[in-house]
Order: sequence, then structure tokens, then C-alpha cells
Amino acid sequence: MLVEKLGDDYPASGQEIRLKCPQCALRGKTPDTTGHMYVNSHAEKFNCFRCGWKGPLSYLFKVLGVEAVVTLNDWSTVARNMSLFRSSKAQLAVKIMDNTQEIGYPCGIVHPAYSPDAWAYLTSPKADGGRGLSTEQISYYGISVAVEEPYVGRVFIPTFHDSKVVYWVARTFIGQEPKYLNPKGLSKVDFVFGLQQAKSFDTVIVTEGVFSAIAAGPNAVATFGKAVSVSQRQQIADAGFKRIVVALDGDARKESLQLCQWFSSRGHETYLVDLPKDADPDSDSTFQDRVRSCSRFSLESALKYSLTQGNVK
Ligand SMILES: [Zn+2]
Repeated sequence: MLVEKLGDDYPASGQEIRLKCPQCALRGKTPDTTGHMYVNSHAEKFNCFRCGWKGPLSYLFKVLGVEAVVTLNDWSTVARNMSLFRSSKAQLAVKIMDNTQEIGYPCGIVHPAYSPDAWAYLTSPKADGGRGLSTEQISYYGISVAVEEPYVGRVFIPTFHDSKVVYWVARTFIGQEPKYLNPKGLSKVDFVFGLQQAKSFDTVIVTEGVFSAIAAGPNAVATFGKAVSVSQRQQIADAGFKRIVVALDGDARKESLQLCQWFSSRGHETYLVDLPKDADPDSDSTFQDRVRSCSRFSLESALKYSLTQGNVK
């Protein structure tokens, strides 16, 4: 019956089923993508022949945070939890492109202090519809204002490499659609906002949006969305941070777990910030407290994180 239920994904024989081992990556191996963990429902034992993680079935269930009673419901819970650790082939395809080329701006720009409307948008408190930025933050990130069409009414928020502008987003402050414009011919998933600035810190905070990164602190970066590409992961991993804190938006729980798993399995000290489902680092007023109290990523913390939110898909 178990074989029947899980057989499609995991070729099995007799009383054994094969699952992708969630511990390989935590025990110095590359993530298990083909299923090396054998679970014997008769002997009530499990054993990964790759990393050596083994024990009684009750321990596996305990680690996975499910009841230590073998029923079909439990098995489907295990299978769902395991799916968190399946690696996506699409994400393994590393695209080679030049993301270090200076592109500059597509129109004339001035400092935001010369545009009262832009200044009000950037510096007004968030409660008043502004971004709540300080003069120092505006300088730190090199934010400017467009003075030529079709960019009038937008602020440029640049991404630097070797102090050259290699990417930017142009955010409207007068309600235009779309809210953001990007350079034509470039893909956002090849760039990491704030990385140049964050590099002087030991700890990096990984967020989705540029305003989330700015709110999270001078050591935060943004990936322009929850689908963090291999190129972006690699850039962050290669920057030499001692600690990587993952703080994607609260609705990106699955992506957050996968990202933590990616960094952690490559030997990075990785932390996971638990945000409410509808929150992001910019909107959450207790974000800094959450960062201070966030837990080190592990299989156990990952499953607790997913199970306590009832969001396991
Ligand atoms: Zn293993």
C-alpha cells in the first residue's frame, strides 16, 4: 500500500521505500536528488546509504515533526515534508552572462533633494505613505530622480558592481503603472541589489525587494523577488559573509526554506527569519527583533517553521 502510494516518485521494492534523504546536505554531502534513504516499514527502521543517517522509524517521524504512528496519513505528511528538499532541475541550470557591465541611466538624473515630490516620497514617514528614508540612506544607495521622459515621476534605485551602475529599478512616486521599470535587455535575476554595500559586513540579510533591503539595514541585499536564481545565490555565497540571514517576504516560505537549504548545504552559517504571511521586512515594524531572535537553519528548524505555519504544500 505504501509502495503503491509513493511508488511513482520513488522506485521501491518489498517493504522498503526510497526517499530523498534530507540529512545528506547537512552531513557534508551534496543534496540527495535520487533517493538514497531506505525506509523499511516492516523493520521500522530507516537508513541513508549515502550519508549514514539511520535509526528507528520513530526517530525519523520525530525529526520530521509528525506523529510516530505509521499510518497512510503520516506517510503522506512525510512525503510532503520531503518535497521541501527536492531540488529543482530548472534552478540548477546556471546561466552565464555578464552582469558587471556598466549601463548607467537611460535619462538625465538629479539628486532627490532637487525634487520636492521625490524628496517627500522618499523621506516622509511610512505612516504617511512615504518610504521613511534618511538622507544618509538616500546617499548610501545612490538614489536619484529622473528628469526626462518617459521616466519623469520615478526614482532610480541602482545596483552597483565595482562602483559602476550595472542595473537599476525606476520606482514611480506619482502612481504610474507599472510601479517599477527595469533596464531593457537585462534580467533582474542576474543582479543582487545592495551587495556592493553589504560586502563590508560579516552578516548579510537576504530580502526580496529594494525597499525591504533598505529597511533591513546597510548589510541587507535584495533579489528582486522570491525566485532567487543560482546566479544570485552564487554572488551572495561568494561574497565572503560569515552569516547569511534569509528574510524573504512572509508568503515565500517554501522559497525561504529552499534558499536556506542551498546556502546551508554549501557550508554557510544560515539563519531563517520567521515573518508573518502578509509581512515583509519593510512593512514589519518588529523586523529587527525578528532578526535578533531568528534561529539557525537546520532540518528541525525548517520543519518547525513549515509545520507551525500550516503552510506545507
Ligand atoms: Zn543521507
